[in-house]
Amino acid sequence: MGPMTSPGRRWAWYGGRPSLDFVNTRRNREAGRRDAAVEYLREPADLAAWLHAAGLVPAGSGGARFPVDEETLAGALALREAIDAAVTATVAAGSVPVKAVRCVNEWIAAGPERPALRIDAGVPVLRAPRSGRTPRGALALIAADAAELLGTGLRERLRICPGAGCGGRFLDDSPAGRRRWCSMAVCGNRSKAAARRQAAHAAAVRP
Ligand SMILES: [Zn+2]
Repeated sequence: MGPMTSPGRRWAWYGGRPSLDFVNTRRNREAGRRDAAVEYLREPADLAAWLHAAGLVPAGSGGARFPVDEETLAGALALREAIDAAVTATVAAGSVPVKAVRCVNEWIAAGPERPALRIDAGVPVLRAPRSGRTPRGALALIAADAAELLGTGLRERLRICPGAGCGGRFLDDSPAGRRRWCSMAVCGNRSKAAARRQAAHAAAVRP
């Protein structure tokens, strides 16, 4: 799973949705070689730190108060890869694997936190849970978020960044729906610079 040198906890938040940010904890997925991908969730503490940084566990509950065990990490990685399989199939206009959908549904069903109505001065107000009380509860919310992306018209806005060594997944929320890069500051500019170098090279070799 990825190179042996630890990449550190460099999280990416351009996904636009928690489930896509979660998928982006493994990057450079399109490199072709399995060992070329970069894995950021290497140990249980990495998952605890990510859930905390993503705001999916209540503030003040870091890895110390809600320790993640090996079993939860393994389940989290299975959920993450199921979401990614569904996202990549959707982007490629292919069939979404039944197995991936089943995994997402299982996590949703396992979640203790559910939306509920609360009466506010006689008016029912929908309260959707934003964080889980446990790491597993947080993962259930990620699964529910993925279900909303995959199971509604939002699926048309799923994208994969074509930047070299990137492969970041994101939701294109631009008005025209033509966002190409995970981030203009990173992959967008790198691509522009490469195009300039290519143009300069072509000009130099022209007889
Ligand atoms: Zn990118």
